[in-house]
Amino acid sequence: MAKQFFNYLVIGGGSGGIASARRAALLQPSLKIAVIEKSRPGGTCVNVGCVPKKVMFMTAAVNEALHDAKDYGFDIEKKNQFDWAMLKEKRDAYVKRLNGIYKNNLAKDNITYIQGTARHSIDSISSPSGAATFTGPNTVSVDGVEYEGEHILIAVGGSPTLPNIPGAELCDTSDQFFEWDSLPKKVLVVGAGYIAVELAGILHNLGVDTTLVARRGAILRTFDEDVAKNLMSEMSDAGQKVQYYTTPDAIEKAEDGTFTFKGTVSEPGQEPKQVTLEGFEKVLFAIGRHPLTENLGLDKAGVNTDNRGHILVDEYQQTSAERVYAVGDVCGKALLTPVAIAAGRHLSHRLFNKEADRKLDYKNIPTVVFSHPPIGTIGLTQAEAEEKYGAENIRIYQSKFTNMYFAMTTRKPKTYMKLICKLPEEQIVGLHVVGLGADEMLQGFSVAVVSGATKKQFDSTVAIHPTSAEEFVTMNWGLSV
Ligand SMILES: Cc1cc2nc3c(=O)[nH]c(=O)nc-3n(C[C@H](O)[C@H](O)[C@H](O)COP(=O)(O)OP(=O)(O)OC[C@H]3O[C@@H](n4cnc5c(N)ncnc54)[C@H](O)[C@@H]3O)c2cc1C
Repeated sequence: MAKQFFNYLVIGGGSGGIASARRAALLQPSLKIAVIEKSRPGGTCVNVGCVPKKVMFMTAAVNEALHDAKDYGFDIEKKNQFDWAMLKEKRDAYVKRLNGIYKNNLAKDNITYIQGTARHSIDSISSPSGAATFTGPNTVSVDGVEYEGEHILIAVGGSPTLPNIPGAELCDTSDQFFEWDSLPKKVLVVGAGYIAVELAGILHNLGVDTTLVARRGAILRTFDEDVAKNLMSEMSDAGQKVQYYTTPDAIEKAEDGTFTFKGTVSEPGQEPKQVTLEGFEKVLFAIGRHPLTENLGLDKAGVNTDNRGHILVDEYQQTSAERVYAVGDVCGKALLTPVAIAAGRHLSHRLFNKEADRKLDYKNIPTVVFSHPPIGTIGLTQAEAEEKYGAENIRIYQSKFTNMYFAMTTRKPKTYMKLICKLPEEQIVGLHVVGLGADEMLQGFSVAVVSGATKKQFDSTVAIHPTSAEEFVTMNWGLSV
């Protein structure tokens, strides 16, 4: 059978792939464009990532508000009647609706949607069945049908990693979290990155007896140390259990059907010791993600990867093969939806709108962790700033206070803020906040940081009162927290 030809052939209908394909269609409506997707349109973000995760974060936030309600004078009799099944059904329906919208948008833009036949609906997104593979430098096969692309974009994303320990196959990852039919009573979450912290926080705030297991003495180790410490302290005050310095050795299934975690605790300066934690209904590993490149036939296309399978690209998303590009999680850098989208769109401008220098600037990418309380962060951590400019060339402003919301409540979580300024002009090179509302606060401040704002400009901005955010424009030097 003759190969079907496309000017732009996109492998992966997730955040990066769909954004790039649609931007190409907008720039050059006459292009023949196809998106190949082996699972559900929308990729990780829509199906097993940002979207259902945020629904769960907000569910947990509602439960927090219910706890606070009586402090605000509401007579709410709390009967612990949370209906997980109802919420899951609504959440799944919402995701399904988004799947339809993504598919319709492609059709509206005249983009051909090629679906691998073997997998659809609720299947795990990481299955290789029905997936596209390269058969040559510019050809791709899907379920035996061959496609030729003048330009090919690889945007296949990644999948959660399970550890190589006995019993790992008994455990879940974030993918399965979204399939749970009921709310478990006791859960162990292994991992210290943002996904582990977010999922453990959601479960804890929904009343689940949750233990987070972290390999080192801290969580979120790529974040500013003070921000991570403040979150750890808030989590501890809220009763969230964290088992630090612990690596998993095995997961076993007990006779009563619950899971037992066996691990090694290696605290600095102490002899390693064994630890056994028992009685978990679920064990969830969130220890990292790997790129879905194993079955892609990249060798046939001449596309090089690093030793973990991430596709190597230059700053223009160009791979080692001519007219083959990669964006998003598969490149292993800044694994976030808006990053994949932006990289994909810039690439389309470069390829199809003669904008030869168009590329994504990976510096100053704002990030939010939907922890309890949430974190918002952009720019350098204090450690990074000290290393880059020297400790004597930076000035730190920080503030710790109680958000006015908690003036009325029994619980008193704190908000912590930090500005990292480069001397002598005091340009803000790092802005960090952990506390209620941090998630919604960060985007606006990101514009300021990306635009090179200085502390003086922050100071000359009139505060909005009474808010938490006003603290960022009223900070004094030397304030101890
Ligand atoms: C639990 C969780 C929470 C997250 N929360 C956030 C958040 O709050 N904010 C945020 O910005 N990011 C978040 N992320 C990260 C975000 O989801 C990813 O960074 C983003 O989806 C990456 O987009 P992508 O296009 O690179 O890949 P994906 O969105 O993963 O899309 C890749 C697509 O390619 C398909 N595919 C793979 N192989 C093939 C093949 N051979 N043939 C055909 N199709 C193939 C897959 O089925 C998939 O649909 C979260 C991730 C997880 C797991």
